[in-house]
Order: sequence, then C-alpha cells, then structure tokens
Amino acid sequence: MVLAQLGGSISRAIQQMSNATIIDEKVLNECLNEITRALLQSDVQFKLVRDMQTNIKKIVNLDDLAAGHNKRKIIQQAIFNELCKMLDPGKPAFTPKKGKTSVVMFVGLQGSGKTTTCTKYAYYHQKKGWKPALVCADTFRAGAFDQLKQNATKAKIPFYGSYMESDPVKIAVEGVERFKKENCDLIIVDTSGRHKQEAALFEEMRQVSEATKPDLVIFVMDSSIGQAAFDQAQAFKQSVAVGAVIVTKMDGHAKGGGALSAVAATKSPVIFIGTGEHMDEFEVFDVKPFVSRLLGMGDWSGFMDKIHEVVPMDQQPELLQKLSEGNFTLRIMYEQFQNILKMGPIGQVFSMLPGFSAELMPKGREKESQAKIKRYMTMMDSMTNEELDSSNPKLMNESRMMRIARGSGRHIREVMEMMEEYKRLAKIWSKMKGLKIPKKGEMSALSRNMNA
Ligand code: GDP
Repeated sequence: MVLAQLGGSISRAIQQMSNATIIDEKVLNECLNEITRALLQSDVQFKLVRDMQTNIKKIVNLDDLAAGHNKRKIIQQAIFNELCKMLDPGKPAFTPKKGKTSVVMFVGLQGSGKTTTCTKYAYYHQKKGWKPALVCADTFRAGAFDQLKQNATKAKIPFYGSYMESDPVKIAVEGVERFKKENCDLIIVDTSGRHKQEAALFEEMRQVSEATKPDLVIFVMDSSIGQAAFDQAQAFKQSVAVGAVIVTKMDGHAKGGGALSAVAATKSPVIFIGTGEHMDEFEVFDVKPFVSRLLGMGDWSGFMDKIHEVVPMDQQPELLQKLSEGNFTLRIMYEQFQNILKMGPIGQVFSMLPGFSAELMPKGREKESQAKIKRYMTMMDSMTNEELDSSNPKLMNESRMMRIARGSGRHIREVMEMMEEYKRLAKIWSKMKGLKIPKKGEMSALSRNMNA
C-alpha cells in the first residue's frame, strides 16, 4: 500500500529508540531525525516536516520519558497526533443529504483518476439508495465523454454530455438543470483535467463552478503525486472552493508523502480513497484508523466493521467469542484460512489487522498468497487434534514438525515458516482477549480501548 514504507520506517525508528536503556536528548533526537528523514524521503513537504518535528519536541517531555513512562507509546502517540493533524483540517466536509438535491463538482489534473472516481462516488451512493447522475463537462480530452458514458452505463447511472458542444459551462448547466428536474439527489459534474496547472484550466473551472453553484467541490489527487503536490493543490484551492479531497491509487506502491502534503495544502478533509480500478474499490476515509494502520497500530474499528459487513451473520457470534477468549489455536487459523479461500471478501476482514495485511496477503499478490495459504492448510491437515487445538506453540517440537513435513510432503523449513506465521498472528489475536462483543455503532469506543 501507498505510504507503507513510511509507516514501516517510523515504527522502526520508535522501536529502536525504545530499546535504548536511557532515553536522553541525544537518543530522542536520533529518533526524530530518523523520522524526519523517512518523511522527507517519502516526499512530504519540508516545511510540514520541520513543523512536525518542532511540535513533537514540544509535546514529548524528556522528564516523562526518564520517569519510566512507556516511551514508545508517548512518542508514537505524538507522531500519531501530528500525522492526524496533517490529514484532518478539523472541520468536516459538506455532506450531501439523501433525497435533497446536491451538486458535487470534481476537479483535478488529467490522469488523477477523476472520471473513474466520479463513477465510484455515484455508484457508492446508488448502492445506498441515492439517485445519482453524472454530467461530463470535460470537453478538452477526446474520449472523456465516452469513458464516462461507458462507466455510467455499466453502473446504470443516468448521464449527460455532448459530442458536439465544446462549451463545458453550457453542458454543465444543461446537465444539472435536467437532473434537477428528474429529482436526482446527487448531481456529479466531471470537469476537464489538464496535464499541468494552467491558467485556462483554472478559468474554465471557475466558470463551471460559478454557473452550477456546486454544494461541494472535490479535488481528486493521485497518491503518487510527488514534491510538486503541495503547490498544485494550493493552486486548485485558490481557484475554486475545494471542500474535500479524494486520494486515488492507494493500492499502488507510491511513496505517498506528496499526497499527504497536498491534503494539508487544501486544508480540506479526505473523504474517500480509491484502492483499485474497479467501481467498488472505493473506501470511506477516516483519519485515525488510517494513521493507526500506517503506524502498525492496527485498525480495530475497521476490523469490527468489516466483521459485521462480510462475515455471515450466523458465524459472527462464534468468531467474536473466539476473539474474546484470545486463544488462537492452529485450528482457528485453519478455519480462517478456509474462510479466506472460500469467501474471498473475508480476506478484507483480516486485512484490517496489521499482521494479516502487510505480510500474509499483500494486495496485488492475491494468487501467491492463496497458494501459500493452501500450502499451510495441507501441512495442517497432517496435524493431530491435540496439535490443532493447542494454543501453546512449544508443543510443536522438532520431531512433531518433522512428522508433519513428512506427512504433507513439504520441507521442515516450510513447517517452521508456518509456525512463525502462526505465532505472529497469535500475538495479534491475543490483543483481543477480553473483547467486549460490540454492537454496530459502538466501534469507536472499542477502537480507543484497543489502541490504548
Ligand atoms: P482522469 O483523467 O483524471 O479522468 O483519470 P481516469 O479516471 O481516466 O483514470 C486514469 C487511470 O487511473 C485509469 O486507468 C484508471 O483506471 C486508473 N485509476 C483510477 N483510480 C484508480 C485507483 O484507485 N487505483 C488504480 N490502481 N487505478 C486507478
């Protein structure tokens, strides 16, 4: 995932610092320098990094650290807060209301994923019972209307555009008027993107905005945007009243710091992220769980939400019960692997957990991951009930592992690798011990407890 490297570097820097016996100014500075380097290497704007460093220094009190407080937690919390601040302007975006007409205008550079995102946004709302419609006011890029038309048709969303008319303002106004008459509650206007910021693009945007009076302007930004991001985002913000941001291509491997800076420049909240080319690869964005995941702290609220969303109702109580007991046996691992292979989407549940996502099931390498899971299951098929139901990894001594390897036709090294995976997942699982099984809507309290 985008920013994964940054998250990893920050976590490592904190870990190294907390390994030191005495935390003095020198050790703290080393840690902060390491974090600064990681942020700059990820393309976060210099000024933002400098401010962040100053703020962390102000917050982290060396006396507290010396007095034996949990150093890792104090620093991690300070960094967590600073990253959240960068992504959260503190004021929510305008939220359209179902049943009441809202006009939402999309702006961004060409190739940022604007047209794709317009459809994803419409489709997301349509699934929730809205009546969205799409207007193509991009008369600059040949094929833009065809692309929107194709996407809209696939999702059965009404659309408006023209092959003949070259005035984007006229098309935008006509489209908005038509869909207002048709009582659509979410009218989405896609505007032209150009290769780089240029006066004509901004003038056109201003005119479309003046003519259609959007309730919300969404700035679409590619997560791989580099150092130039901050200035570009600011230029958009100065031309039209950007009220929210959607960051696309979060499924890639971009450094992502440019996007972080750009979001800070717009002083607007990120409301969704794009995580793939498909229509439903689109997620609501929530700052705290996102930063938690980035820093390897886990996204517990997302995890619980996903359980409710994708685990069949009748399996939920049992799974949650097992979670609350905190005893992660090989049999539970086996059953969850079965679920992943059988149901596909349940993989999404576990991708919310730090360990499951990054290493066991990296996005884009699903085939490999599936093969690995199948291999693990074959080895587990050669285990005894005692082995499967024990939550004591010490039980699995060398002679048992040799037997399993022989029985499944695999190398002992692979059995050992699987046991390492098991121990890693068991550690994550154990954090959920004593979990109060929450109902939907109680997630944030749970999230706070888990991250504490
Ligand atoms: P526009 O020029 O800004 O309207 O960009 P498009 O909507 O045409 O998108 C440009 C390319 O980015 C297309 O190939 C899209 O399929 C792709 N794209 C858009 N969003 C995402 C995303 O979230 N993830 C990935 N992997 N590709 C995306």
